[in-house]
Amino acid sequence: MAAADEFDPADRRLPERLWRWAMRWLSMGREHATLASQRRKVTQVNVAALMAMAAAALTSLVFWRTGNAALVRGAWLNLPFVLAFSLVWLLNRRGRSFLASWVLFLLVMADILMGIFFVQGTQLFLHYFLLVFALVAPLLFPVSHWRSGAFLFIINAALFAYVDLYGVAAPLALAQIDAASQALVRQAVLGSCLVLVVALVMISEYSAALSEWQLQQLASSDPLTGLPNRLALREAFTRELARRQREFSPMSFAMADIDFFKRVNDEWGHDAGDRALCHVSSILRAQVRAGELVSRMGGEEFGVILLTDPEKATLAAERMCRAVEAAPFEDEGRTRTITISIGLVHMEASDDEQSALRRADAALYAAKNKGRNQVVVA
Ligand code: GH3
Ligand code: MG
Ligand code: MG
Repeated sequence: MAAADEFDPADRRLPERLWRWAMRWLSMGREHATLASQRRKVTQVNVAALMAMAAAALTSLVFWRTGNAALVRGAWLNLPFVLAFSLVWLLNRRGRSFLASWVLFLLVMADILMGIFFVQGTQLFLHYFLLVFALVAPLLFPVSHWRSGAFLFIINAALFAYVDLYGVAAPLALAQIDAASQALVRQAVLGSCLVLVVALVMISEYSAALSEWQLQQLASSDPLTGLPNRLALREAFTRELARRQREFSPMSFAMADIDFFKRVNDEWGHDAGDRALCHVSSILRAQVRAGELVSRMGGEEFGVILLTDPEKATLAAERMCRAVEAAPFEDEGRTRTITISIGLVHMEASDDEQSALRRADAALYAAKNKGRNQVVVA
């Protein structure tokens, strides 16, 4: 029951395959990091390398097309850098993320300085890239390596200030380009600076949300069935109770327990028992509507929150019993029928989580005593 504004990476708009491919590249090397924050840095450095590569390739292309002698030379000089940025991914993949960050910065600085001193001076605003990389330096190093971030910030900022203040003359050949084209290149440089900063901030926000989501998943889901665990059930219960009181909407809670589950373990082994749990959990999950919740409360017990009026909730619980009974559990060539018993409570005004669970438990006990494979309403 995710609220509309909750983050969920499964709900993504980009075509699935393209997304996966990009993510594999951009998260290269994350597996070597222990902390979520370190993993985030690895992604950011990969993204920065990709953008540096794209920027270098793009400027080479634009320079070439101008046909201007100075710029064409710049395009040639720039070309090795386009390839060199892939070194960053290679290092990250080998788990050398600290070195990768440094290599990224050294390459960027070398590329920019080369552009300034050999190709276009400060006339085309290329030195603004130094300012951008001064600002992102602290962002691309983990807190534990803050000294590197600070050092690169100072170096890049100082270089920017120096060339901006004193200016570097462009080679004569550049003067042959008309003013309008020069202005265009300047705008392109400033534009890509902006894109770079925005992209890095966005990716940092995204990976922060992703790691938060992963941590939350880890804490709130059951590893065997993938269902929300008891903790998640309690949270959902509290939330739904609050909503019920606010909107006077109906709510029921079903506590389901597999009948004679011990026999599955005893006769077919514990692993088959685990698979049987997954089998039942997927049947239950298919029976609820969007917004309702099936959780594994522990052992072979499931808790289901139903958000509908009492008659429909009772029908839904009956349907769950029938669905489990009707889908025999097949495992390693063997087949057996599994059934569940359900204790159902329709929430009353006086109910809180504790009392609802207590009443559901008592109803479940009654269902077991009455012969199992049935629903008893508290
Ligand atoms: P009843 O109809 O009265 O519920 O009988 P039962 O055998 O299902 O009840 P009991 O509570 O005696 O046994 C539950 C069994 O579930 C005991 C335990 O070994 C098994 N179990 C609990 N968690 C797991 C699990 O994660 N995997 C497996 N394979 N078995 C589990
Ligand atoms: Mg049982
Ligand atoms: Mg039990």
